[in-house]
Amino acid sequence: MSETMTHAAVLILLGPPGAGKGTQARMLEERFGLVQLSTGDLLRAAVAAGTAAGMAAKSVMESGGLVSDEIVLAILRDRMAEPDTAKGVILDGFPRTPGQAEALDALLADQGLKISAAISMEVDDAAMVERVSGRHTCEGCGEGYHDSFKQPAQAGRCDKCGGTAFKRRADDNAETVGARLTAYHASTAPLIAYYAARDVLRSVDGMGAIDAIAAELGGIVAEVTA
Ligand code: ADP
Ligand code: ADP
Ligand code: ZN
Repeated sequence: MSETMTHAAVLILLGPPGAGKGTQARMLEERFGLVQLSTGDLLRAAVAAGTAAGMAAKSVMESGGLVSDEIVLAILRDRMAEPDTAKGVILDGFPRTPGQAEALDALLADQGLKISAAISMEVDDAAMVERVSGRHTCEGCGEGYHDSFKQPAQAGRCDKCGGTAFKRRADDNAETVGARLTAYHASTAPLIAYYAARDVLRSVDGMGAIDAIAAELGGIVAEVTA
């Protein structure tokens, strides 16, 4: 009997800010019917809603540091409990610390689930400043764009929904990117060895064209969910 009959896929995208995790997660969602779960998006929603967790997270996010495991795990657990995640999830920006990785293992074990693959997107730090500085998203549908690398077919008009309003993140500036890259190397990069030791690590070259990376990632996801 195939594993996919009983077990939902759990994919992790690992990589520094600007690696292309969100861009690729949205493409995988469409292709495989999985649900993208971005702790960054969930935290920004909590900040916008003014919840207690959001108020505690706001200044940490503005400075480019990491929000506490306690807050992030509470938000993640709530989201994982929603029924749409049953078909499988793409974790984008989570886990980000060894403590989060261990908590995820425990959460999945409770539900009889396991990690299908943790995919490391290998990129050059130096290129990430430009990636993050040019990033913006459609206000209507959340589609991601870049000033130089991913422009809509028709200037100022979203390819997906036709929307004409775009937004930029407060933390997407050259100053915070340095702090975020430092946090990545100190706290998140060790997870590459963590998942290698568990035999679920895969890696892709994240410096190529968006479509080429999508094809490679799609191959991995098809393989690990077959
Ligand atoms: P990026 O896609 O640029 O890596 P995210 O949207 O994932 O950024 O995260 C934005 C900010 O939200 C991070 O700089 C951090 O402050 C916070 N954050 C997001 N996910 C986590 C997490 N798993 N643990 C701690 N902090 C997080
Ligand atoms: P992350 O979620 O890892 O922080 P994003 O997916 O938001 O990264 O990508 C960061 C920015 O770089 C976005 O503006 C996106 O359009 C652009 N981008 C994503 N992948 C590539 C790529 N392979 N080449 C060039 N630009 C890219
Ligand atoms: Zn749109």
